[in-house]
Parts: sequence; structure tokens; C-alpha cells
Amino acid sequence: MKIARFNQGRVGVIDDDRIIDVTSLAGIDPAEWPETGPTKLIARLVNNPGMFDEALKSAPSLLLKEVRLQTPVPWPNKVIAFPVNYHDHAAEMKATYRATHQGFFLKPNSSLSGASDPVVLPQLPGREVHHECELGIIIGKGGRHITREAWKEHVFGYACLLDMVVRGKEERVTRKAYDSFCPVGPWITTADEVGDAENIEMKLWVNDELKQHANTRDLVLNIAGMVEMASAVMTLYPGDIIASGTPAGVGPVVGGDVIRIAIERVGEMSVKVVQGHGGRTDVFESAYVPPTAKQG
Ligand code: MN
Repeated sequence: MKIARFNQGRVGVIDDDRIIDVTSLAGIDPAEWPETGPTKLIARLVNNPGMFDEALKSAPSLLLKEVRLQTPVPWPNKVIAFPVNYHDHAAEMKATYRATHQGFFLKPNSSLSGASDPVVLPQLPGREVHHECELGIIIGKGGRHITREAWKEHVFGYACLLDMVVRGKEERVTRKAYDSFCPVGPWITTADEVGDAENIEMKLWVNDELKQHANTRDLVLNIAGMVEMASAVMTLYPGDIIASGTPAGVGPVVGGDVIRIAIERVGEMSVKVVQGHGGRTDVFESAYVPPTAKQG
């Protein structure tokens, strides 16, 4: 099943070129704030994966190309992200550490955006904003102290994820927290449809030029390891999102660019980049110095 959020907080199931509106079936109020309906829906689907099966036959539907796709889980408990999780990206960043012994960071929920939303660049003279092509792993059944062996019981599905970042050496979260710096979409494809998640091809293009191409089998810390590490520290809840880490080929984007990300058996989305007007802060006053030695 492919579960999307669309238009103004509606929820739908993708059926070929249509989207079946299950908002009322799911008991979701699109006007609710905070928008925790999709988070609760994931928890319910974990216990009752077939809850829509009968209703899907008669629920109203729309043409997929005519809807605005929003980020599928706008209000998770947390977005967990693993830095330096591909050896080739570590080499390009001159990083001597790896996710296995460095751990993870968090991105704020407010940085989440969807397939139809632009990435809005802050106005930071002398700085570059880079794309990072990542697999988004959406937690289903929550838990603490999840073992590597049990990881599949806890993963609900997958999505394309862009971990946008202001390059630099300042606090990682500050550089990665701008609004729209975490596009997730175009929908969640449930784990049963994705199959072997430890062998998925992912690609990223900027303006149709291939920039990143990798397979999840090359992750330094694999999905089982990410679930184990995150849950050793924190309780994972339904709807939590894990960003896998990026392979080599990161690079700058500017206003007018289009970032396209495609993940095999998961989905594909094209996200526009626009230059915004705000976002300056003393943190980014000094120019970016590309890595020449190990980066902290
Ligand atoms: Mn990243």
C-alpha cells in the first residue's frame, strides 16, 4: 500500500494513477492542529493492516496528477538522521568517523515538506546548500531496545528523503533545520511492497544530471543497526522517521533547480528549489571553507 497526504491535510491510498481519499475512513480531521492524524493512523494500521481493504472499493478518488502531495507524516515524534553512513561520502567529506561510532542527530518536524512543496533556500551569502539523497524509514510498531534481529517488526514503510544542509562546520542541527530542509515523499510505501530494503537502488538528479547513485547494501550501519542504535537511546514511536545517510555526490543547489530523487520500489519525486529572502544569522556570517582535513 502507498499512503499519501494531499491537498489540505487529506489522506489517501495510491491506486495506479488515482488517489483514493480515506480521510474520513481514517477518522482524520484535515483542519486539526497539530496534524497528528497520520501519526495515529500508522499506529492503527500496525494493529489492523487491512482496515481500508473493504472501503477502498467504494471510497471517492481523484486523479493523482491533480492533487498537491504533502509530506506523509507532518507531526512524528521525531526525525532521526544518520551522518556519514556511506564510505564514499565520508571520503568526499574527508571525515574520519562513521555513523557506527558517531551516532545520529535529529531534524525538527518543522523542516518536513512534501513532494509538491519547494525547498526554500535561506539567503546566506558565501554559503552553499547541498542536497543529500536518503532513504526515509518510517517506524510502525514502536519500542525500546529493539534488537537487530527484530528490526523488520518495527518498520512500517519507506519514502524518499532529502536531507538538505548548509555546508559548514557549525552545529549540524542548525545547518539542517531550516523549514523545507527535509522533503519526504511522495508517499509512504509499506514494507511489504518494498521487499528487501537492504538492497534498494537510489538515485538523485539535479536538473536531469545524475549526481548521486547508491544501493542500501553499501550502508555502513544498515537499517537493522540504525533501528537498534536509535532504540537503544530513545523509545521509537509509530510514525518516527529515520534518514539513512547519504552516499557520495552531494553538491550545491540554487534557486530554479529541480531535485529529482528516485528510490527503487518506493517512489520518485521532483522538488523545486526557490531562493528565499530570510534566514540570515550570525552563525553563517563567515564563508564556507571546503573540507581539507577531518571535519568535526
Ligand atoms: Mn544526511
